[in-house]
Amino acid sequence: ASSFHLIGLIGAGIAGSLSPVLHEREAAAQGLRYAYRTLDIDELGLAPGDAGQLARDAVRLGYTGLNVTHPCKQAVITGLDALSDDARELGAVNTVTVRHDAAHDVGSRQGDRLTGRNTDHTGFRAALAEGLPGAALGTVVLVGAGGAGSAVARALLDAGARRLLVADADASRAQQLAARLGPHPGPAAHPSRVSAVVLEDVPARIAEADGVVNATPIGMVGHPGTPFDASVLTSRHWLADVVYRPLETQLVKAALAAGCRVLDGGWMAVSQAADSFELFTGLPADRSRMRAHFLEL
Ligand code: NAD
Repeated sequence: ASSFHLIGLIGAGIAGSLSPVLHEREAAAQGLRYAYRTLDIDELGLAPGDAGQLARDAVRLGYTGLNVTHPCKQAVITGLDALSDDARELGAVNTVTVRHDAAHDVGSRQGDRLTGRNTDHTGFRAALAEGLPGAALGTVVLVGAGGAGSAVARALLDAGARRLLVADADASRAQQLAARLGPHPGPAAHPSRVSAVVLEDVPARIAEADGVVNATPIGMVGHPGTPFDASVLTSRHWLADVVYRPLETQLVKAALAAGCRVLDGGWMAVSQAADSFELFTGLPADRSRMRAHFLEL
């Protein structure tokens, strides 16, 4: 008998999330019994600080895995038993896997062992490899040093970026991210280097860079515009955006018009979902099928 997967998404304002249908369609294509439900803290009358307890309660009620999104990625950690190394380094969890160990059925914990993981960075790295194969990673400019920016920065270093320049409207966030991630043990001949740059310098830095990533919310519905003057992009650059609503942000449009190779935010969204699906089920996800499903939504 195949096992039943019941996955929850913990976050706020997630009624319109594409994750349930994205996961369920891939599971259906694989013939799995798999249900994906939102657990919206706003609807439940909970605060972000309750996310850890909500995660434990959900598992006690039968949830076999969880995704976690804004604003609960840090707060959920209090309810977990263990963290993967990358989730600990990023200080953020977007995926919780559950292992039941009957030998440890004690008290309220009932032997359920909840482990926090992070597929935002593995997802971005896979997206980069699949969507922009061979992209030059000599110097990369990253704008936005929040949750998505931290995951992207980690992924770029793992992928071999030699110089990563991070900017944020809140300069202290860029500085903190650079301090947290550097020095990084990269390939011996090319030690990775991360540094913070001020927002005003971004256009000049882009002129010297191979690629640029937007990890700010600018470009998403309700946040029109571009996070920097897009006229500095040339056909020499690649551009990645993490914003996926809409897929064709103003920045993506400008980059395409300039002749850049472009990775839209849908790639990261699909890849992180695929990585989570694989952690939940132990089965490979068909990423091109998931991307095709995503583009239909
Ligand atoms: P966040 O609030 O943690 O971080 C955003 C950062 O951008 C902040 O540090 C903020 O100071 C900075 N910022 C805002 N406007 C700026 C500007 N004009 N110039 C420079 N910096 C600016 O948010 P987050 O969770 O990192 O999410 C950012 C975006 O990434 C959202 O649109 C979100 O939907 C998207 N996202 C996409 C994926 C995906 O899978 N594609 C995953 C996570 C987040």
